Amino acid sequence: MPVVKFLEYVEEHQNDFVERLRKAVAIPSVSGDPAHRQDVFRMADFLIDELKALGASVETRDPGQQDFHGQTLPLPPIVLATVGNDPAKKTILVYGHYDVQPALIEDGWATDPFTLVEDDQHRLIGRGSTDDKGPVLGWINVVEAHKKMGLELPVNLKFCLEGMEESGSEGLDPIIYSEADKYFRDVDAVCISDNYWLGTTKPCLTYGLRGVSYFHLTVKGPRADLHSGVFGGTVHEPMTDLFALMSKLVTPDGKILVPGIYDQVRQVTDEEQKTYDHLAFKMEELHDAVGNKINIHESIRDTLQHRWRFPSLSLHGVEGAFYNPGDKTVVPARVVGKFSIRTVPDMEPEKVTELVKKYVTDEFNKLNSKNSMTIECTHGGNHWLSSPQHPNYVAAAKAVEKVFSVKPDLTREGGSIPVTLSFQEALKKNVLLLPMGRGDDGAHSINEKLDRSNYVSGTKLLGTYLYEVSQVQL
Ligand SMILES: [Zn+2]
Repeated sequence: MPVVKFLEYVEEHQNDFVERLRKAVAIPSVSGDPAHRQDVFRMADFLIDELKALGASVETRDPGQQDFHGQTLPLPPIVLATVGNDPAKKTILVYGHYDVQPALIEDGWATDPFTLVEDDQHRLIGRGSTDDKGPVLGWINVVEAHKKMGLELPVNLKFCLEGMEESGSEGLDPIIYSEADKYFRDVDAVCISDNYWLGTTKPCLTYGLRGVSYFHLTVKGPRADLHSGVFGGTVHEPMTDLFALMSKLVTPDGKILVPGIYDQVRQVTDEEQKTYDHLAFKMEELHDAVGNKINIHESIRDTLQHRWRFPSLSLHGVEGAFYNPGDKTVVPARVVGKFSIRTVPDMEPEKVTELVKKYVTDEFNKLNSKNSMTIECTHGGNHWLSSPQHPNYVAAAKAVEKVFSVKPDLTREGGSIPVTLSFQEALKKNVLLLPMGRGDDGAHSINEKLDRSNYVSGTKLLGTYLYEVSQVQL
């Protein structure tokens, strides 16, 4: 059985795989810092060399240049690699990113963030270990294992690796769309390993993400800031209008007050309810993550449903407000309130914007203020939902059972991973999110880690998934 030989190989060669991760973590490929842009390119070269050494055919696409606060920077390449070209086999596309979040030892890291350290609990600590260098190398480890054993992969494998994910994936979408009927033409399904288990003990498959619609609500009146001792009580004050409006958006227990928002939300089916029955999650994990017991909902089910499959509205800030310490009797001339709505099926972004604009305008008119108000949606991304019943997911679930001897949790996430939607819309193929790391890995935080067991079992999982997905009808 090739898959059994593969699993044995991974177990025996895990130290080699850790060394590969050590080399990758040592390259500080921080995409958000111009001083590290050459390191992002170096990281691309590292992956290209690794892939070529394993017999992959590698191409790159140049996304062009970035305007970074007036500075023109070259964008790192999109690395496209192919292993196998057998028309009788399925073709699976895997996506990952080789850039990382910034990390400075002064931020509070216990060790140098760009030196991989294994602690006594076998945690591999270093920036990018779990996000997303470990998973990207997991796929490369799978290719290496097969090459070294003289085995063919059960599928044709295509890679799409980008170096700007932590900076908004600048330049990626146009390439995905332009290559959809070229480089990605034969792709049968997509697998992305760039998110996390719900908790720390049980693997999961992720089949949904919320979208986001972000709003700026601007109120302005006087030509310039005023003094309350001179004008207080004599003019309509922009901040007073803004607070009146912001207070009408959401209740303290999280209920959105914009009429019509909940009408668009898909009902929870009995089948969906069941997926919440045995999730590996405890309310303490929420308390730990938040640092306080300020939960709105008492049950795990309600908490996770409100994170994953119901909309939420959050207030983020007020631009133009006085916020320094001390007492200043200024009346700001122009204030911008910022808030966003996390959206879910079957909400449509255009409809959400229309409802918000109408409601805020109606409420502003009720104030009888002589100030002026504008509201606009400044950016938006749609929600994404797949199905755990899709054969791509069924194959992944079987792979989890083979490697971990447990059925995976079926999870969604409250945030967004925009590339997921881009691949689905451009390629019209199923997209699977198959995480390697644990929920406590601290992806964008200090002391980011990937447990050795997650790296090793994760490599086994990615390889076993390729065997399982080669057997299903996509
Ligand atoms: Zn990531």
